[in-house]
Amino acid sequence: MFNQILISQFKTQFRGELIRPGDAEYENARKVHNGMIDKRPRLIARCADVADVIAAVRFGREHGLLVSVRGGGHSGAGLGVCDGGLVIDLSGLCWTDVNPKKRTVRVGGGSTLGAVDHATHAFGLAVPAGIISTTGVGGLTLGGGLGYLTRKYGLTIDNLLSADLVLADGSVVTASEHQNEDLFWAIRGGGGNFGVVTAFEFKAHPVHTNYAGPILWDIDKAPSVMAWYRDFIREAPEDLNGFFAFLVVPPAPPFPENLHNRTMCGIVWCYTGPADKAKKVFQPIRDFLSPALDFVGPIPHPVLQSLFDRLNPPGLFTYWKADFINEISDAAIEQHMKFGPTIPNMHCAVHLYPIDGAAHRMRKNETAWSYRDSTWAQVIVGVDPNPAKKDKITEWTKRYWTALHPYSAGGAYVNFMMDEGDERIRATYRENYDRLSAIKAKYDPENFFCVNQNIKPKDQGREPNDSRSTLQETMSSLAGRS
Ligand SMILES: Cc1cc2nc3c(=O)[nH]c(=O)nc-3n(C[C@H](O)[C@H](O)[C@H](O)COP(=O)(O)OP(=O)(O)OC[C@H]3O[C@@H](n4cnc5c(N)ncnc54)[C@H](O)[C@@H]3O)c2cc1C
Repeated sequence: MFNQILISQFKTQFRGELIRPGDAEYENARKVHNGMIDKRPRLIARCADVADVIAAVRFGREHGLLVSVRGGGHSGAGLGVCDGGLVIDLSGLCWTDVNPKKRTVRVGGGSTLGAVDHATHAFGLAVPAGIISTTGVGGLTLGGGLGYLTRKYGLTIDNLLSADLVLADGSVVTASEHQNEDLFWAIRGGGGNFGVVTAFEFKAHPVHTNYAGPILWDIDKAPSVMAWYRDFIREAPEDLNGFFAFLVVPPAPPFPENLHNRTMCGIVWCYTGPADKAKKVFQPIRDFLSPALDFVGPIPHPVLQSLFDRLNPPGLFTYWKADFINEISDAAIEQHMKFGPTIPNMHCAVHLYPIDGAAHRMRKNETAWSYRDSTWAQVIVGVDPNPAKKDKITEWTKRYWTALHPYSAGGAYVNFMMDEGDERIRATYRENYDRLSAIKAKYDPENFFCVNQNIKPKDQGREPNDSRSTLQETMSSLAGRS
């Protein structure tokens, strides 16, 4: 009875949907991309606008709730959802507003990459982002943002001009080079620790049709391909991006039948320079070693950005582990050859994304994203549609990662991490951690936003959530008092 009163009061300030256990929408609304995640929040506040976000933050704060913020729901660790608390779901804040003259785009905090690519492409523009169109702009940007345009235009955060945030006290601020500069520094890599971003403003670049796609080789060629690739990409023009992959070829067009289900290695290329120079740029690649498949050709940017979407539908069981890499050494290649060829199925992936070019032109303390001196982000992704294989793919990923970790730079890209503990988070931010922690203490001293790769507020020894009850407890205690 009292629960209903509390919810009814909240509803008077909320235009979006409030979803509770037992509601028809609940089972769907609590799901995130990774099928491994099975969390049961007490309330999901699907916001319609900024006022709803403010109301939800205040409601969560007033009632001492554990709160998670959900953008696109793609976090491997399932950080968009929580058990027993309140989910602030931003999927209703999916909108875009392109300014073609200024080459900028404003984007709602719950937008997907596909929505942004669609909007900007109409003006021959693109924002550097990730390689799957269903990923949320929110989490991807706040963690950094790696993709096909990294070498030429930098990380997604290097193209962020400003962001509007609802802070833990419910106030609204803008962060940019000229306003709340400390906050602007922190949100460029520091994740969802500092507030709910309701709008991002990005610089967009003239990108329309790329010369791009995968080139695949037989798996036994992988040592030569990796050794060649590590030297080639370093010297390649910044117009050219290419990430290395171990993969299993999907049994479907456009792949030729003779390659279906074959374990191979490949590089997925994206050239954004002048079209008439493309073939020349690819000549040394094509001369290096005759491939089993050369699928590179002209491709509109949004098509490239969604090329692998069908391999990544929501609900598959996923476990991933990552590291930053400075050097793909011969010893590391040897380890890759022990595990890469055992990749379990076509949904799994091992990717090495280059970090250099424009991403290296930012200093490591210029934004919160510390690993500007590393050269690759490596991620090993175990995925299976079958829940019975959860343990198998987790084990494969962990064993692979353990063998490769000694050859890494230490930390990992936060957006490719599971729930791996404080030490791992510190290893990722390195010398930027203390500054992040001080900014956290200024903007979120109570660690209200703690369902994330959590940065603890400086001088606050307390563990996150230890003073926070779940909604269920709040409601029961209030019910007891009534
Ligand atoms: C299939 C797949 C492909 C991927 N490809 C790439 C890639 O190419 N490049 C790359 O860099 N990364 C990639 N990623 C990783 C991706 O960047 C992270 O998973 C990221 O966290 C996803 O953001 P999200 O908003 O979808 O996730 P969510 O799970 O919704 O959120 C992740 C974290 O961000 C916070 N958050 C989200 N939105 C906001 C907001 N508006 N305000 C405040 N906090 C917010 C959440 O609270 C949570 O802590 C990929 C992930 C998947 C599953």
